[in-house]
Amino acid sequence: MGRVYNFSAGPSVLPESVLKIAAEEMMDYRGCGQSVMEMSHRSKVYDDIIKEAESLLREVMNIPDNYKVLFLQGGASSQFAMVPMNLMNRNKKADYVVTGQWAKKAYKEAARYGAARVVASSEDKTFNYIPKLDVSMFDPDADYVHICMNNTIYGTAYHEIPDTGNVPLVADISSCALSEPLDVSRFGLLYAGAQKNMGPAGLTVVIVRDDLLGNAMDLTPTMFNYQIHADNGSMFNTPPCYSIYMMKLVLEWIKNDIGGLEKMAKANRHKAKVLYDFLNDSNLFNPTVAKEYQSLMNAPFVTGNKDLDAKFIKEAEAAGFVNLKGHRSVGGMRASMYNAMPIEGLIELVWFMCQFEERNA
Ligand SMILES: *Cc1c(COP(=O)(O)O)cnc(C)c1O
Repeated sequence: MGRVYNFSAGPSVLPESVLKIAAEEMMDYRGCGQSVMEMSHRSKVYDDIIKEAESLLREVMNIPDNYKVLFLQGGASSQFAMVPMNLMNRNKKADYVVTGQWAKKAYKEAARYGAARVVASSEDKTFNYIPKLDVSMFDPDADYVHICMNNTIYGTAYHEIPDTGNVPLVADISSCALSEPLDVSRFGLLYAGAQKNMGPAGLTVVIVRDDLLGNAMDLTPTMFNYQIHADNGSMFNTPPCYSIYMMKLVLEWIKNDIGGLEKMAKANRHKAKVLYDFLNDSNLFNPTVAKEYQSLMNAPFVTGNKDLDAKFIKEAEAAGFVNLKGHRSVGGMRASMYNAMPIEGLIELVWFMCQFEERNA
């Protein structure tokens, strides 16, 4: 069987050239007679890999020097607790914007450690929009404001970074990291589970401004303390070695093959336009999100008929377009079109949808 077009929301498609390099280097990494999976994380060979991964991430994302980059485990979900444990340390309060299930989970977890407050929510309309935000809505004494930049399940995204005044902004960028340039200096902390756009599962990336470190709550487990990982170069314990190596290959692909995040963003906009333009014209398929909030990465859509949705998903899968089933809270379909999805995937999907529409008109 050949490779399919994989529209999975995560873990998700990786660049083919990256998979080929990984395959070539699998048994014998650059003449050292072992796989990256087998080598000691304290070895010189591996030290070069993790250092190169960090320096590439800094270069590609243009991360300022006063930010630490941490390679952790536990997924974005662990950050829901790590963020409050480390940052809710001055006034023990934080503001949350709830734009989806992930943002809501982050808020609920934070509420276990201090006074978390929902400043705005889009739950009234199944999270199909981003609430209007204004600096006056945020508590100037909050320790931070938390947002989820791209809502993987609902297909909405912030197209502007909210103004939070002097309150540090924390963002979950799991499903939009590396998809377009981001002004890191506007944030106190960014975090992402790698398995959407950065590499395989197992790696969680945290980018944190260094003045926010060093004041974790006393109850914070050692492994949940950012300072410990920062002081140890993400080597306090065994890091997710192979996933870090894979992310390094993905970053090399973005830098050398694509030409950086401006070009990556342009390619992503072209891809998304192919699908959204079709959805706007179609008499059968409709997007669930209005244009101004649409995500470049995840596009939910419906026919309005559950049976027809199920038929479409089944026929699409047989034709090599897989993982198009939408999240159960939205229903219908969702096409995730992360960095590694080629534009051909969208063009062929849209052609398939055209034909399906004709057959089922
Ligand atoms: C997938 C996802 C998560 C959960 O990530 P895990 O690594 O599975 O914990 C959190 N937030 C967003 C925005 C996601 O897309």
